[in-house]
Amino acid sequence: MENCIFCKIIDKEIPSEIVFEDERIIAFNDINPQAPIHILLIPKEHFASLNNIPEGKKDILSHILLKARQIAQQEGIAENGYRIVLNTEKDSGQEVFHIHFHLLGGRRMTWPPG
Ligand code: 5GP
Ligand code: ZN
Repeated sequence: MENCIFCKIIDKEIPSEIVFEDERIIAFNDINPQAPIHILLIPKEHFASLNNIPEGKKDILSHILLKARQIAQQEGIAENGYRIVLNTEKDSGQEVFHIHFHLLGGRRMTWPPG
């Protein structure tokens, strides 16, 4: 997708600190971390938001979630806990319209999230 910053990260046109990559997804450090661990996980296929994932592509969601769990284990935050955030469309605060899961950990989170 042209002019998508996360597609450019996937294509390595924009540098990022990649923590995991396979044929379907990529995970990299957020440029403006909100916690000691703040990693974004995205599918390599461009979907603007959760609203745009078709039924036939739903497996990508479980793949990303379980990979987030694995990365949390590798980063040493699984036992204490972590938060996975999926902002969807403008009321959620979504700013980049390539679906991404935030993996946040390393500190106590607050609730409600605001
Ligand atoms: P959203 O608000 O859309 O859920 O989250 C977008 C996230 O992408 C933000 O946490 C922001 O810091 C991160 N972000 C935006 N541009 C870049 C970038 O060029 N590189 C990286 N690594 N993160 C980015
Ligand atoms: Zn994209």
